[in-house]
Amino acid sequence: MGLEEKLPSGVLLASVEKLAGYARKSSVWPATFGLACCAIELMATGGARHDLARFGMERASNTPRQADLMIVAGRVSQKMAPVLRQIYDQMAEPKWVISMGVCASSGGMFNNYAIVQGVDHIVPVDIYLPGCPPRPEMLMDAILKLHDKIQNMKLGVNRERQVTELEDARLRRLPLVAGLHPGGHG
Ligand code: SF4
Repeated sequence: MGLEEKLPSGVLLASVEKLAGYARKSSVWPATFGLACCAIELMATGGARHDLARFGMERASNTPRQADLMIVAGRVSQKMAPVLRQIYDQMAEPKWVISMGVCASSGGMFNNYAIVQGVDHIVPVDIYLPGCPPRPEMLMDAILKLHDKIQNMKLGVNRERQVTELEDARLRRLPLVAGLHPGGHG
């Protein structure tokens, strides 16, 4: 059964949003950013056994200007933090970040002054991936979840409306603090 049999009279009906989402999610270009042992699993994900190329991601970019996904693989030292932020700033918009492993997400076992206690102090994170280290299958699962997110990303005014709605929903979920909650007093 071909795609054409599912389309009404050969006309492709899709919104620009859906087409843009499909194109974007099918051509994500990751920036190479291995920082510690997690990077070995990241490299294994691109190898022949796991074959990240199946998802349109075989091209790992060595220049941030031709990358739109940062996979932070490993602990982030205080010294590396400004470099990481500079690379993020140079990446093309729209861009996404996966925090790979417990060290990148929270500092992990390195609860000390030398390591940033979570890369979300430096850049906004889209997906947190647990594990020490996460296996390539876990990274691929995170990437597929990110693809879903990219596919359903709104454009223009729809995006602004979506962001506002999400912010409102999160504010409503905050613990009840007098004066902050819409129904609170004080
Ligand atoms: S999460 Fe584990 S494997 Fe990954 S960088 Fe930290 S110590 Fe290494």
